[in-house]
Amino acid sequence: MKGQRTTDNRQQTLSNNIIRNQYSLLDLNTMGFKVVAKNFYEINSLKDIDQLIENNVFCNEKTLILGGGSNILFSDEYFDGTVIHSNLKGITINPEDDSESSDPQILKSSNPEFLIVRCMSGEVWKDFVDFTIDNNLYGLENLVDIPGSVGASPVQNIGAYGVEVKDCIDCVYTIDLTNGDRVIFRNEECHFAYRDSIFKREENKKYFIVAIDFKLRCNGQLNLEYGNIKDYLEKNDIVSPTLSDVAKAIKNIRAEKLPEVGVVGSVGSFFQNPIVDEDIFRRLKELYPEMPSYPNENGVKIPAGWLIDKAGWKSYKENHVGVWDKQALVLVHYGGGKPEEILNLMKKIQDSVKEKFGIEIKPEVNIV
Ligand SMILES: Cc1cc2nc3c(=O)[nH]c(=O)nc-3n(C[C@H](O)[C@H](O)[C@H](O)COP(=O)(O)OP(=O)(O)OC[C@H]3O[C@@H](n4cnc5c(N)ncnc54)[C@H](O)[C@@H]3O)c2cc1C
Repeated sequence: MKGQRTTDNRQQTLSNNIIRNQYSLLDLNTMGFKVVAKNFYEINSLKDIDQLIENNVFCNEKTLILGGGSNILFSDEYFDGTVIHSNLKGITINPEDDSESSDPQILKSSNPEFLIVRCMSGEVWKDFVDFTIDNNLYGLENLVDIPGSVGASPVQNIGAYGVEVKDCIDCVYTIDLTNGDRVIFRNEECHFAYRDSIFKREENKKYFIVAIDFKLRCNGQLNLEYGNIKDYLEKNDIVSPTLSDVAKAIKNIRAEKLPEVGVVGSVGSFFQNPIVDEDIFRRLKELYPEMPSYPNENGVKIPAGWLIDKAGWKSYKENHVGVWDKQALVLVHYGGGKPEEILNLMKKIQDSVKEKFGIEIKPEVNIV
């Protein structure tokens, strides 16, 4: 029964296959720090979560929901609390459809414009995007090869190459870890914004994302406007690109620019691109006419990577950490270092950008 206190015999009532103590998170933080969690629970079924809630596991301990750890920076090598990790698997096409067939080609004909695809939170994002491309479903192709889990995708509204995941999310299924309630968030209730959603707010960190319904187009227009997708296609003599041509192009462009996960520690873009008001923008543009910028509803967005590069940090190295030579927005850990080294470097870069341009750059990564 929900809310019933059974803490005394908690370890006996929880199934052993979901509990780990003093658990290494080395493979669950792409920065590659040797972090250990006091308690670690792997969620393989909704029953596992209900069992944890019934045993009041989340009442007294600091709790962290961890996906693949590709957007988390542990500030210490010991996480003195409880980590829960979704291992919920499964992809269902048209979940409300009572058709027995799982062949998207068949289901498409009954719903020519869109298909709903429900994906469980423990699926790997890259594999899920590949699945949509293999099934000729449009919408997520520009988000190909982003590391991490499906469950984390709405949290910071992942984005790349001119597309954000919010454009394809129909709803998010969650469980409130404080009471076991099932809560569904429709797209508009998630308050998606640039690298933001309600799931990032402290008070909403109690929602464990179980699954997401994606609304994907059966026929669509490809978005080739951003970055150097067009250049890549041209260079490879691709005149009428298909869905998989675009995905392949982006995979190759990303591989050239970003550190390989598991080889060099990183969390991708470490900082958010700052949005400044028109006055600040005009002043800076006079000083730096070559400064790139993008209009935004709240002002003008300036690439943080350009600011960091211009402040002289690209390729900088200090002991075990540094700034990636191909993209100054990416801070890297070369191995053998400690979280404080990255935190110190972060602070130095923030101070120097502030001093040179008068702009504060904020971390995109979640620091815990
Ligand atoms: C090389 C590299 C490139 C990257 N490129 C991009 C990019 O192009 N665009 C982009 O947007 N990001 C990018 N990222 C960042 C990262 O991949 C994404 O933010 C990704 O969605 C994080 O997924 P994760 O499973 O690793 O989440 P984690 O890092 O484990 O967690 C991120 C946040 O989501 C929460 N969370 C995770 N799972 C759940 C769940 N089931 N329920 C509730 N909350 C949950 C966590 O508590 C945390 O707040 C990149 C990272 C790397 C290392």
